[in-house]
Amino acid sequence: MCGALRASDAGKKAVLMGWVNRRRDLGQIIFVDLRDRTGVAQVVCNAELNAAVHKKAEELRNEFVIAAIGTVKKRDADTVNANIPTGEVELVLDELRILNVSKPLPFLPGDTVLANEEMRLKYRYLDLRRDPMQFNIELRHKVAIAIRDYLSSQGFFEIETPFMTRSTPEGARDYLVPSRVQPGTFYALPQSPQLFKQILMISGFDKYFQIVRCFRDEDLRADRQPEFTQIDLEMSYPQPERVWETVEGFLAAAFKAAGHDIKTSFPRMDYDDAIRRYGIDKPDLRLPALTDVRDCFTAEELQTLAINKDLPVLAIRTPKVGELSRKERDDIKPLFVSKGGARVFEDFKRIENKHPEAGAKIREKIRANTGDAAATDLIVLVVGSAQTASDVAVHPASKRKVTPAEMQIYASAGLLRVALAQKYADRHGIFKKTGDPAQDYRFLWVTNFPMFEYDEGEKRWMAAHHPFTSPHEEDMDKLESDPAMVRALAYDVVLNGTELGSGSIRIHRQDIQSRIFQALGMTKEEASSRFGFFLEALEYGTPPHGGIALGLDRIVMILAGAESLREVIPFPKTAAAKDLMMEAPTPVAEGQLRELGIGVVKK
Ligand code: ASP
Repeated sequence: MCGALRASDAGKKAVLMGWVNRRRDLGQIIFVDLRDRTGVAQVVCNAELNAAVHKKAEELRNEFVIAAIGTVKKRDADTVNANIPTGEVELVLDELRILNVSKPLPFLPGDTVLANEEMRLKYRYLDLRRDPMQFNIELRHKVAIAIRDYLSSQGFFEIETPFMTRSTPEGARDYLVPSRVQPGTFYALPQSPQLFKQILMISGFDKYFQIVRCFRDEDLRADRQPEFTQIDLEMSYPQPERVWETVEGFLAAAFKAAGHDIKTSFPRMDYDDAIRRYGIDKPDLRLPALTDVRDCFTAEELQTLAINKDLPVLAIRTPKVGELSRKERDDIKPLFVSKGGARVFEDFKRIENKHPEAGAKIREKIRANTGDAAATDLIVLVVGSAQTASDVAVHPASKRKVTPAEMQIYASAGLLRVALAQKYADRHGIFKKTGDPAQDYRFLWVTNFPMFEYDEGEKRWMAAHHPFTSPHEEDMDKLESDPAMVRALAYDVVLNGTELGSGSIRIHRQDIQSRIFQALGMTKEEASSRFGFFLEALEYGTPPHGGIALGLDRIVMILAGAESLREVIPFPKTAAAKDLMMEAPTPVAEGQLRELGIGVVKK
């Protein structure tokens, strides 16, 4: 293996096989950097020592595949390459076999400037030869194995579930597979194995996991892929804490495999607190929280500034940004996405000048919250507009701890907080890795999500997680009367502001499951036509159970320090859901369609 050659091998015979990474022709001597998965070694063909080998070496071009047979020799001190592990030695060739040639390549694995991504994806097999991709794929392997080993050691069985199944609701569109033998009917590719894993609990496999592909046909963003891999698990009789412990255990194993010792257990936070403190249900704990500074203003000041006195007045503090120029302040405006009429005050100095007392109080309050000086930190306020109704009294969710009107202000501030931190990352340096896992990887459990979300468009309640999630026992009486107040036994695991996974304790009683379907506006008939098999299964002694699923791609992406999921998925799809290498999807032959009884309507 090329990368394994060391000074201690000097004098030994060796056979190396790999690609010509680079060839340097110095006339009498030809050097070849030979590359395989393990690294690069220098191979020497000396015309004086072996004219035939030297002649053959003249034919070598980039990415030819060769077998190099020779003797390992220590390099002279002045030619040692300290930058590579094999830099003290070289292989002096007795024999050279060309196993295959290569056309000139569209780009080389060793190129320092990357080809554009379209090229990389079209020639993915060449792109994967590059060191960083080899590293990422190896990392993915190590992480997956560590997770499997950990879960297996805890008594979990990995059990496969079908890819050709029927639609289960995770909130996205299904990919459909037409049935030839039952024309007009379709399988759906699973959005997740949700119902199967619950059924496995009914079947007595009380600890299940699977590293499994899931398929969701949704509009793609940078961090989404139509097919992605989940670490899916389910267990019988758990309290949420048991699920959390299990996840913490396998994440610790996965991070260890990547060289990081993380501490468990992770902190926990109520959903309502997450919204109030961070304006988001996946807080990045590395950044300062929001501070409600409404009480720093007098009633008159709020009125003068046209700030809604009944809604939160949120200060966002971004550390160490320093004084901003007018132009820089203007640049903040496009980062602000206003929800529910929220407004931004990006010029805190101006507020301070006009309302010195309020300004001083705000600085004081932020400092009190953070314990450090806020002098050179950027302070931006997000407020409700005086024109907006603060509480939509008729809104069905208006009695929640965080009302819908408040939610909009928190959400606007929460998004701006993250956007500002990203914009000024170079100045505050908070996102830079320190080498201390406790600082670099801030995990968090967010718990007690609301059970339902009100869909304004459809004017009905939707399951916030999925409809198999159990409500809190003590909120059961509000299912019909006050759905907004029902909390779910649902939880998300969050890392540095990214949701790694979500799960819940499930409903294990048929009568409750039926009530939830009803609360979601499903008629009895609809429920039984979509989930009849499952409602029946629940009636045969279903144990209490719960579980979770985490995105493997995302975990590996974070561990690899990669910018996109495509960097850690061997054969990913583009934002238009295309595989540029295979050129999929494609039209298919008329005959194939006829057999399936399918006609294509041109759009
Ligand atoms: N099936 C859920 C999902 O994919 C996770 C879970 O509840 O276990 O989001």
